[in-house]
Amino acid sequence: MDLVITGGEVITAGSRGIADIGVSGGRIVQIGGDVPIDASTRVIDATGRFVIPGGVDMHVHLSPAYIPAGVGPGGVTPTGDQALVDDVLAWADDFVSGSHAAAAGGITTIGNMTFSRSGEAPVEAVERTARDAAQDSIVDFVLHPVLLTAQGMAEQVEQLAAAGCSSVKFFMMFDSFDAEAGDYVKVLARAGEQGLVTMIHCEDACVVGHVTGQLVAAGHTHPSNYGRSRPAYAEAMAVARAVAYAEATGSPIYIVHLSSQGALEIARQARARGVPVFVETRPIYLLFDETYLDGEDGGLYVGNPPLRSAEDVSALWSGLSGGGIDTVCTDHAPSLKADKIGPGVDITTVAPGMADLETMLPLLYTEGVRKGRITMEQFVEVTSTNAARIFGIYPQKGTVAVGSDADLVIWDPAEPTSFDGSSTHSRTDFSLYDGWEIEGGPVTTISRGAVVYDAGEIVAGEFRGQLVRKATGSATADNQTIHIGGDNDEQ
Ligand SMILES: [Zn+2]
Repeated sequence: MDLVITGGEVITAGSRGIADIGVSGGRIVQIGGDVPIDASTRVIDATGRFVIPGGVDMHVHLSPAYIPAGVGPGGVTPTGDQALVDDVLAWADDFVSGSHAAAAGGITTIGNMTFSRSGEAPVEAVERTARDAAQDSIVDFVLHPVLLTAQGMAEQVEQLAAAGCSSVKFFMMFDSFDAEAGDYVKVLARAGEQGLVTMIHCEDACVVGHVTGQLVAAGHTHPSNYGRSRPAYAEAMAVARAVAYAEATGSPIYIVHLSSQGALEIARQARARGVPVFVETRPIYLLFDETYLDGEDGGLYVGNPPLRSAEDVSALWSGLSGGGIDTVCTDHAPSLKADKIGPGVDITTVAPGMADLETMLPLLYTEGVRKGRITMEQFVEVTSTNAARIFGIYPQKGTVAVGSDADLVIWDPAEPTSFDGSSTHSRTDFSLYDGWEIEGGPVTTISRGAVVYDAGEIVAGEFRGQLVRKATGSATADNQTIHIGGDNDEQ
């Protein structure tokens, strides 16, 4: 046995119990009973701690490592037709700093939004990014091809499926969406045929464009107006359209970073009548309401969609415990402070996004589990298991079971400590959570049997993450899962 974890309380989406775990060749080979230990076995005592499956965060933005020398992250000046792509590629973290933040935050699989460069087919962007990430990442990764145009893209879906992709992504918030909506629906139809899930950013471009224009004309351009520039009804109507596309095609959709009660209700009703709709939300919509946008530093809290009302916040928490929301993923899109507040930054130029890879699990645990809003099993479900299932990588990822990858987090339910963003691994230069009380977090993070983070330090050594390909024949996957408390558990 390469690694044995003793005495921890093993928690999956459906079970919990104290059991030892044996790891060999990067996989879990035994749960419960007497796990054999020899001279070369590394033993980790997890007594008094939880052992949970590593987080599966299917929504991150890490820049591939080709930002030109001399141009800082966040500072790329876009030119010509490539402006949009170059601009969105300029996040503060690459696969080195981003994967370090993930490991330190208890996340062992990341799903990166993968943008094509000009003239590059989506499958080429996936292959290029996979090479980069395989050198730089210390956690495993999934790559989501992002389509900034739909023209000719339905024909590319088969190639993407053959390359091991489990998804495509597009944005309804871009001005080009409406002109190409018919082509996007063709992409969605083809994706469903090929077993891919389509990730959709749901905000209506016309509404957002019009309302933003009105605010600019009236001189209301300070970032404190950001919430008004992207109203909740723009999200609700986009979700309604996306749901209708899913209904028309029968193809599954995954609504990224859903933020509001009305949109959630539309998705929930669709699901109740059998439309294949999955819903993701994001930490900021659970942890902050729209009043955070009001201050002078309101720009720091800007994401797309924007922060919503206190009623929306509580509706999302209910969605996590009572159904309707499948996953909490970071949308880790780290910007720098100067791009979010300060001179020249207004509602049309503020950089959306923030770092959350290192903070999502500890904060969801603190605000969710410790405050009794969700159970520990639900915490595992929404941060790991559901994402692995939706994206076709379960039970390789997303659970603690014999045969699964040994992606494990030893979680310490600790006394409250004050959070200090300056000690984190992201290259962003601010945190929304400085001074917040945090009541627990990962002490050890294990990726395919290798300890990559331990006691506050990255210890990955030569270990590198791998591209996780969609499982084939996953229809029987559920039957292969051996739960704690089942036949394999002798306690
Ligand atoms: Zn995103």
